[in-house]
Amino acid sequence: MSILDVLLDEPSTEPVPAVIEFAALTRSFPGDPPVTALHSADLRIEAGDYLSIIGPSGSGKSTLLHILGLLDRPTSGEYLLNGSPTGTASESDRSRLRGGSIGFVFQSFHLLPHRTVLDNVLLATLYSGVPRAERRDRALAALHRVHLDHRIEFLPTVLSGGERQRVAIARAIVAEPQVLLADEPTGNLDSVNSAGVLDLFDELHGDGLTLVVITHDAHVSDRAQRRVRISDGRLTELA
Ligand code: ADP
Ligand code: MG
Repeated sequence: MSILDVLLDEPSTEPVPAVIEFAALTRSFPGDPPVTALHSADLRIEAGDYLSIIGPSGSGKSTLLHILGLLDRPTSGEYLLNGSPTGTASESDRSRLRGGSIGFVFQSFHLLPHRTVLDNVLLATLYSGVPRAERRDRALAALHRVHLDHRIEFLPTVLSGGERQRVAIARAIVAEPQVLLADEPTGNLDSVNSAGVLDLFDELHGDGLTLVVITHDAHVSDRAQRRVRISDGRLTELA
């Protein structure tokens, strides 16, 4: 919106850019033979979408997630985050964009075992631009959102798998990212704990968070609002 629009109190006519948009995205890995893990993939993810990407092992899911999360670059094709091209951005700009816009959740939690639940979430505020004076309140608020107020002084090692993943989710949302990227978030969980994590995703989506969940499990992908299949690095949107 321009200053003029604000002064005239008129709605902006500029379209809101998609949170994530990419076209003709390809990622090849050199080798003998070389592997093309993503083939000319196109996708647009709007603010507030809850999208799943389902495909079998080796289909290119993690490759795609690493590119979406600015942890890797495509071999060719354009990836726009909030309408800004990321391909030409420097590593430091990409790192700043990542810290401010993207939260990650992985299958294996990646918590520090010898630090409390609260410390694990606090540590994530150090490098994601949360002002010092707000860090503790933000960490407590994130842990409240994942229903772990009663676990803040515990070590991750005494928690259930589902609770550990919820700590990881609190850590991923503490800096209030625009989009949460989850790679097989229930892969290490039994069905009860998986259901708890998926219920939490519904709540976060209800609060307006944009979610991208990558999985090989139809029970997980069926919970999303939009489903995309990935097969040999090619994407197809499912009805
Ligand atoms: P998924 O997460 O769906 O199991 P990946 O994205 O990890 O699949 O891998 C897709 C394909 O790309 C596989 O054939 C894999 O061996 C290959 N691949 C992934 N990362 C690399 C890499 N760093 N170097 C070479 N090949 C890779
Ligand atoms: Mg994978």
